[in-house]
Amino acid sequence: MTLTQQQAAPPSLSYELYPPARPEAEAAVLRAIEELGATNPDYVSVTYSGTPVRRRASVRLVEHLVRNTRLRPLAHLTCVGETRDSLDLLVRQLVGLGVRGVLAMRGDLPADPEAFRGELPFARYLVELIRQVEAGHSATLAGGRLSVGVAAYPNRHPESPSFQHDVEVLVSKERSGANFAITQVYFDPAHYARLVAAARAAGVTIPIIPGVIPMSSVRRLERLAVMTGVRPDGALLHRLETASGEAERRRIGVRAAAGLARAAFDAGAPGLHLYTFNDPRASIEVIDQVGLPATRTLSSPVPA
Ligand code: FAD
Repeated sequence: MTLTQQQAAPPSLSYELYPPARPEAEAAVLRAIEELGATNPDYVSVTYSGTPVRRRASVRLVEHLVRNTRLRPLAHLTCVGETRDSLDLLVRQLVGLGVRGVLAMRGDLPADPEAFRGELPFARYLVELIRQVEAGHSATLAGGRLSVGVAAYPNRHPESPSFQHDVEVLVSKERSGANFAITQVYFDPAHYARLVAAARAAGVTIPIIPGVIPMSSVRRLERLAVMTGVRPDGALLHRLETASGEAERRRIGVRAAAGLARAAFDAGAPGLHLYTFNDPRASIEVIDQVGLPATRTLSSPVPA
């Protein structure tokens, strides 16, 4: 059975972009936007970090997408280290720019235990704050249409006591007003299916979109493990380590990502979110291998 026969509505397609930290990286991001934009994604997400330089870079990239492209941005936002007032202002700024989708997260805690952790301890409070801003902004928002996404974890979040606890946290995020969730990276297709089954059993009804990464670098795979706590897949790591060169590593990463995407669609995934590392080629090869249809707007979780 093909993908199109299987799904009632076409699945959504989205990409994650990283705001350029240095001016030299800007051209690569603009090129990635152009190439990925040609595949007609439903939305493009922009990562966020609360340091002043990176925050400016995130907002600038979101603004570029709104002003100069036809792509819908999904602006990531984190509440760690922030006051309620600063977040309120930032959400208003994003809405004022024309943003209609926000991915609300807590962010990683600072290593220094003495550092200010912010006034909102968990992502669900940020979801609530965004909904409050939305309520006070309904005139500008054309019917109050703001979509709020959250993070979900196929493998236990490093701070969490259990996988089931993460599922309960997802329930609380939906109750706070989240419309959809995007998963953390994972390497075993069964982990996405397990998350969806556990979430549905616990009462989660929002779409849970698999986050898939075409991984073609050993160094990046190891760094990712440190950043996310997700153990690298041993077989993938071995194949990458013993590959004959860059082209083969890319083929291995694309094939593995396409396999995860296909398995997620077989498990009923409502869309596919690709972590791109601003490298459009690997992501485009993944969607070519999966055979995603070109018209997708029906199931987009981010409104126009
Ligand atoms: P929360 O949902 O607040 O959970 C954090 C921890 O607290 C978890 O262990 C959870 O189990 C626990 N917890 C939550 N509620 C409670 C409660 N009531 N009582 C007890 N414990 C609780 N980070 C960035 O900095 N910038 C980005 O742009 C970014 N993009 C991401 C995109 C995706 C798709 C994903 C999956 C992650 C992204 N992250 C990003 C990483 C994310 O910020 C981290 O994983 C962070 O550590 C947790 O964020 P969260 O929103 O899941 O937090």
